[in-house]
Amino acid sequence: DVSLDRLVDWLTRFRALVTENQGYLTELDSAIGDADHGSNMARGMNAVIDKLGEPQTVDALFKTVGMTLVSSVGGASGPLYGTFFLRIGTTAGAVDSLDGATLSAGLRAGFEGVISRGKAEPGDKTMVDAMGPALDALDASLGSGSDPAAAAAAAFEAAQRGRDATEPLVARKGRASYLGERSAGHLDPGATSTAFLFQALAEALA
Ligand code: ADP
Ligand code: MG
Ligand code: MG
Repeated sequence: DVSLDRLVDWLTRFRALVTENQGYLTELDSAIGDADHGSNMARGMNAVIDKLGEPQTVDALFKTVGMTLVSSVGGASGPLYGTFFLRIGTTAGAVDSLDGATLSAGLRAGFEGVISRGKAEPGDKTMVDAMGPALDALDASLGSGSDPAAAAAAAFEAAQRGRDATEPLVARKGRASYLGERSAGHLDPGATSTAFLFQALAEALA
């Protein structure tokens, strides 16, 4: 099973990846947005790790994560990632570990929260384009009998493919959509940070 310690390790690794790649994420956002995705994610995840304390349940952990992201990140990504984590917590409830099925259900509910909040569809060139394929791959892997570690590795691969597939797309949601056709030819910053999210999960569960 996936313990609370492993979930904290997931978040700690995500913080490390977004801070190490802060300049890269901001460079991507400077091409099709307002050049703040790296600083938004680094500030948000640093605040999260500072606030964590010693949560006793999965819902308490992700409530802190989600609320901290919503309150510390001004951009679109704060409420979207915030909703993602809050929904994982409310779906899991007052438990101290997750198995493959409850991990999948939590992530799926988080993803649905991102969709209901941001109204993006697949192909709109957003984080949804990395998250959706990642969760489909996670479920397919769990469904064929893999353990959570192998399923998370499959999810990371799919998230990378989804991220890469945003490059030719024309943005239809978020600031990048203001550019219209000129948004094509660049990776989406949020899909790129979402690939780091699944990289962190795969590493924490390995
Ligand atoms: P802002 O655009 O407000 O400056 P960020 O730069 O931190 O916020 O985040 C931008 C990323 O947020 C985009 O690359 C995209 O992946 C994601 N995003 C923006 N709007 C939406 C939306 N409506 N639904 C899903 N994701 C979105
Ligand atoms: Mg931005
Ligand atoms: Mg901004």
